[in-house]
This record gives sequence, structure tokens and C-alpha cells, in this order.
Amino acid sequence: MHPILQLISSRFAQPASPGAPAFVSSSAGDAPLVLDSPHSGTFYPEDFRFACDPAALRTAEDTHVEKLYAFAPALGVAWTEAHFPRSYLDANRNTTEIDVSMLDGAWPGPVETDPKTLSKVRLGKGLIWKFTDDGLPLYDRPLPVEEVRQRIERCWKPYHAAVAGAIDRAHARHGYSIHLNCHSMPAVAGSHATDLPGLVHADFVVGDRDGSTASPALSRRICDFLRGRGYRVDYNHPYKGVELVRRYGDPARQRHSIQLEVNRSRYMDERTLEIAPGFATLQADLRALVEMLLATDPRGLDAEPDAPAAT
Ligand SMILES: [Zn+2]
Repeated sequence: MHPILQLISSRFAQPASPGAPAFVSSSAGDAPLVLDSPHSGTFYPEDFRFACDPAALRTAEDTHVEKLYAFAPALGVAWTEAHFPRSYLDANRNTTEIDVSMLDGAWPGPVETDPKTLSKVRLGKGLIWKFTDDGLPLYDRPLPVEEVRQRIERCWKPYHAAVAGAIDRAHARHGYSIHLNCHSMPAVAGSHATDLPGLVHADFVVGDRDGSTASPALSRRICDFLRGRGYRVDYNHPYKGVELVRRYGDPARQRHSIQLEVNRSRYMDERTLEIAPGFATLQADLRALVEMLLATDPRGLDAEPDAPAAT
């Protein structure tokens, strides 16, 4: 990590033990564009104490996504990344999305009751994962309530504080903000990863929760830009975006949050996790996308003639 990022990160999250990486790092920007990567963390904290095959957890990471966007801070784009793995705590969930059956005692906070939101918890993919993408249990022990509370304090809160702060500053400075929530997805969905196991993914999936977290015209512009570069792009299928766009997207107030999933087979070997030859081309196209977004003011987009439908 860049030394400046390391310095800034220390403001947000302290490592669990001396010498261990910070849980979250963040760098400020001066552009209206804010990027974050919640799932690319590869630092497995000592107190994780999972009981499954570590390789199964590594396949759940959005491995190398932070490297794909390494160009962004130099363009003035604010950047936040998680260093903890998604399977330790999923920052793209609300703190209410807890499976209380995993705990050793009563959960002191509110718990989600909305059946639609709870579908992730049922898959074992709530705030704290119960199952791997292959449906195997992560733990052979009840999780102490205090341990989960600590994960929220050390991981979820600083991550969300960094993203929310970056969006607020971008919006205050420019009168609008564009938040790109950066992810990657396997070429084929795992058996217990989503509600559509075995689905073959496109190269990109653009998600704005059916137009509720960003101007659909802005999302369309992203879809069309990527299609123009030869990629297969799906819109709000099978991924619409989750907590990080739901919480911060508010297009009526010119706060646009869009989730961008890129197919891992485009930049890495999914078996060995090594970077593949396609990485450089993909990164160049992502840079072009970011530069296009830096030149886009979403406030005028809805008034423009309708672009071709993105389906
Ligand atoms: Zn992800």
C-alpha cells in the first residue's frame, strides 16, 4: 500500500495486533467521483478462527480489485478499501443482517426482519458469513456476541465512515457525487453464493437497485460505454447492488451510487488467484471508464434524449 494511504488509514482503523495491516484504508480526493472496494481484503485476522478450508474463503474474495483501480487516487478520485476479508465481515451488508442462531448469546442490537433482505442471511451470506459459496459451514463453534460486536467496531464502522465521508465531501464540493462501488464476480455463480447457482456471468454487471440508487441515465451511460469497448454487460441482473449503494445512493439529491461487478476471468486465474494476461487491458478500460465519469455531470443527463435501453 502507498505510504500516504497507510498514514491516512491509521486515522480510521487500528490493526488488531502490532505489525498487522489496518482493517481499512482510505485516501481523500478532490473529484466528484468516489470509489470503494469492500471485498478485496486478504488479511485474515487471528481472531477469525474459521473451521473450513481457507481456499474456500479465498474464492469468496474480490481478489485484486484494489489493484485494478490503483490508478484512481492519482486522478483525484477518493478511494476506500477493506483489508479484512469479506468472509470475516461483509461491509456490503447492514449491521442488522445477523443470523442470531450463530451466536453464543442474545444479540443486543436490532435484527433485520424484511424477508427480501433476509434472503442473504438464509444463504449464509449475512454480515457474518455462516456458509462458504459451496455451502460448507465456516465455524465449528458458536460465535461470541462480543466477537461480532468487535468486528463491527473495527471493520464495518470505519469502512462506512470512510465511504460516507468521501461522498459527503465530493457532494459538498461539486453539488453532486458519483459513487462507484467496485466488485468482482466469478465467471460462474457458486452453488450457495446467490439465488441463481450455476449462472454464467457477463463481463460486467451494473447495478443501481432498479434505478433507485442512481440516475438510470447515468447507469445506462456506463453500460453503453463498456459495451462500446466490446464487453458483455448486464444491468441489475443478477446483481442489483446491496448495502453500500442502498445506504448512500440518493439520486433525487444528486448522490449517485452504482455497483460495478467485473468477471474475474477477465483479469485473474480463478483457481490459482494469480493475475492473468487480460489484467492490463481491463485496467486500461476501467481507467477510461473513470475518466468518462470524471467528465460526466449527471445533473444534465436525464434531460438528454433517451439512450438505447440497457437490458
Ligand atoms: Zn464483492
